Amino acid sequence: MPTIVQKFGGTSVSTPERIMRCAHRVLEARRAGNRVAVVVSAMGHTTDELIDLAAKVTPNPSPREMDMLMATGEQVSVALMSMALHSLGCDAVSLTGGQAGIDTDAAYRKARIARIDHERLERILGASGVPVVCGFQGVAPNGDITTLGRGGSDTTAVALAAALDVAADGGTCEIYTDVDGVYTADPRLVPSAAKLRHISYEEMLELASVGAAVMHPRAVLFGEKFGVPIHVRHSQKPDLGTLIVPEEQIMEDIVVVGCALKPDLGRVSLKGLPRGAGIQAQIFEPIAAANISVDDIVQTEFGDATTIAFTVEHGDIADVKSVCQELLGRLGRGEIDVEVGLAKISAVGTGMKSHAGVASRMFRALAEAGVPIHNITTSEIKISAIVDRQHGERGLQAVHDAFGLAAGEAVTAAMQSSGRGRR
Ligand code: ASP
Ligand code: MG
Repeated sequence: MPTIVQKFGGTSVSTPERIMRCAHRVLEARRAGNRVAVVVSAMGHTTDELIDLAAKVTPNPSPREMDMLMATGEQVSVALMSMALHSLGCDAVSLTGGQAGIDTDAAYRKARIARIDHERLERILGASGVPVVCGFQGVAPNGDITTLGRGGSDTTAVALAAALDVAADGGTCEIYTDVDGVYTADPRLVPSAAKLRHISYEEMLELASVGAAVMHPRAVLFGEKFGVPIHVRHSQKPDLGTLIVPEEQIMEDIVVVGCALKPDLGRVSLKGLPRGAGIQAQIFEPIAAANISVDDIVQTEFGDATTIAFTVEHGDIADVKSVCQELLGRLGRGEIDVEVGLAKISAVGTGMKSHAGVASRMFRALAEAGVPIHNITTSEIKISAIVDRQHGERGLQAVHDAFGLAAGEAVTAAMQSSGRGRR
C-alpha cells in the first residue's frame, strides 16, 4: 500500500473551515488506497505573531525560549487537525516533532534534522491511523525543543517521507499550498505562464534561488538527496499540481522550463583594490559573517589594481556598504561604487547542459525588447542577465516568449538543435 505524506501550510489551515477541508483531503487519499501521514504548519500568520509577541517582552529573547514559543503554533494545528479527522470517523494521533521521532542538532532556531526514528509513526500507520505531526520542529540531544528555521515545515514533510521511504511503493510527499503548482514564470508578472507537470529537483532549486518561492529550498535538497517525489498542489482545488522528481524521470526534453525575475537588486563595485592572493576572502568573509548573500561576482584586473563587483538584495546594501568601508579603511586604498535599481532575469533548464544556443536566444529576445544587459552570469542549467529594474517585467515576458513557455509551446531540445524552435 503506498504511503503519502500530506503537508498543509499555514494558509491551508488558517481557519477551522480550512482545517476541515484538509481533513477531507486526508480521507480522500485514504479512500484511494493509501496510508497517510500528515504534517501541518501553524495557522495563518501565527508564527509571525508569536515572534512579535516575544519582541514586546524583550528585544533579545533567548533562542531556546524562542523555539519553545514558536513550536506552540504547530501544536495548535496538529491538535485541531486530529480533532477534525476524529469528527470524520478517522483515527488520528497528533504528535510534536519530538514525539514523531525527529531528532535534530542543538542549533536553536535553525536546527538540522539528524535522524528520524519512525517507529511510532509506523505503529500508528500500521494500525490504520493517521499520524499528524508538527512541522518545523524537532528535539535536540538534551531534550529541548528546536525549530528548523522559517518555512521549515516543508523540510519536516520531505524528511518524514524519506524516513517512511514513500518512493519504494509509489507514494509521494504532497505539499499543499496556496498556489496550483510550479509555473513557467510568476503568473502575476507573465499572464501566459503555464503550470509545469514535472520539474527536476535541480531546476526547482535554481528557480528558487532566482526568486520563484514555491517551496523551501532545503526541503527540495532533502527530496533530491533521498529521491522523494514531491507533489506541489493547491489545498483548495482538486487539480494535480507539479511533480518534482529526478531529472531522469522526466521524458520531455525541454530546454528551458522556467524563468524568473529577482527585482530590487543593487550592485556594489570595489575599485582600486590591491592585486594578489587573499583579497576575495578578505571581502567576502565579513559579508558572509554578516549573513548577507551575494551573487554575480565579477572580477576585473587592470594594471596593479583589481575591481570586484557583485549584486546584493536592495535591503542589504547599507550593511554591505559598512562592511566594505571598514575593509577599505584597513587596506588603506580602494573605493566603493553602488548602483541601485537593478533586477535579474534568469532562464532555467537542465536541457541547457546538452544544447547550444540557449544563451544567444535569450540575448536576442532581450535585445528585441530593447532591454540593455549590464552583466551576465551562467551556471550549468541557468543563464541570468542583470538589467535595469524598470525593464525587468518586460524582459521577463520577452524571455518567456522566446522559449515558448506559454501553455503547450515549450521549445524542445529537438527544435532547438535543428533550429526549428519558435522564437
Ligand atoms: N510556521 C513556520 C513558519 O511560519 C514553519 C512553516 O510554516 O513552514 O515559518
Ligand atoms: Mg508558514
